Amino acid sequence: MPATPNSSLKDSRTRLNSEFGQSTSPPAKPYLRGRFAPSPSGPLHFGSLVAAVGSYLIAKFYGAEWQVRIEDIDPPREIEGAADTILRQLEAFGLHWDGPIVYQSESIPRFHEILEELKRKDLLYACDCTRKKISKLSDDGRYPNICQNKKLSFDGEVAWKLRHGEGSYHFYDHIQGDCEFDSSLYQEDFTVKRKDGLMAYQLAVVVDDIDAGIDHVVRGIDLLDSTPRQLRLYEVLDKPAPLWYHLPLAINQDGNKLSKQNHAEAIDSQHPSQQLHQAIAFLGQKPPVSLRNEPPEIIIDWAIEHFSLESIPQQQQIPYFD
Ligand code: GLU
Repeated sequence: MPATPNSSLKDSRTRLNSEFGQSTSPPAKPYLRGRFAPSPSGPLHFGSLVAAVGSYLIAKFYGAEWQVRIEDIDPPREIEGAADTILRQLEAFGLHWDGPIVYQSESIPRFHEILEELKRKDLLYACDCTRKKISKLSDDGRYPNICQNKKLSFDGEVAWKLRHGEGSYHFYDHIQGDCEFDSSLYQEDFTVKRKDGLMAYQLAVVVDDIDAGIDHVVRGIDLLDSTPRQLRLYEVLDKPAPLWYHLPLAINQDGNKLSKQNHAEAIDSQHPSQQLHQAIAFLGQKPPVSLRNEPPEIIIDWAIEHFSLESIPQQQQIPYFD
């Protein structure tokens, strides 16, 4: 995933007044199920709370279910106990999920099945390049599809790459507007199974979203660059893509995304009301100050009732200092 959010987005954003651009009208297409999909690499911080609250409010405003999926398929990055901490934090903040919690690791056999299907269709190839080799051969950091015709064996320490498609994978985002990217992004074959044998995020997220019937994806704008790749996966799997909503990111004093990697402070489950109020305000909603000390459920109910999609800022990054 890119270090800088949205690095190759062409500046073509316009917030279209489409059927979804109006906050007051329900979606023209059914909205059955949204989701929040945290990786258990640490407790939730303010940045991930914004993604949780944003996906919750949009789903609930349109009367949809909200699923929680723990993306636990990258053991080296996981912290013991983090999944449980995240679930307790969500409960403390009044974000109650529908249906059972989904643990992505349980889908690993399914991911293998899909990989075999793609392999049979000759959509995959093996690549043994090191990061060093790729950065030497590429000016923009993109993988130059070097192993495309080498017919390397899929066994051993190799990454599995998906061949790029012919489309431009331009899409409409219900917060960011029209999103178009540089052709270099579309023409890069990307990893679906990592060299270390682990599943790549792109494959896992799309297969799980399809299988769970997720029809609206709401998440941070740092994943905007991944969307064209995910559209390519929906195309090869012959499934309709969900509708997309990419939320602004909270950044710290140094201009970096709040993240577990740069030690953003965990949200405080003992005193949720104020940070919940702040997260709702961060999303451009205007909760009255008098709500700040109310229980989380009261704040959430107010936010669903007064929700305005068009008030969510189109800005990619918003400073948040506590
Ligand atoms: N697991 C991803 C993360 O924590 C989010 C995946 C997604 O929302 O598509 O950044």
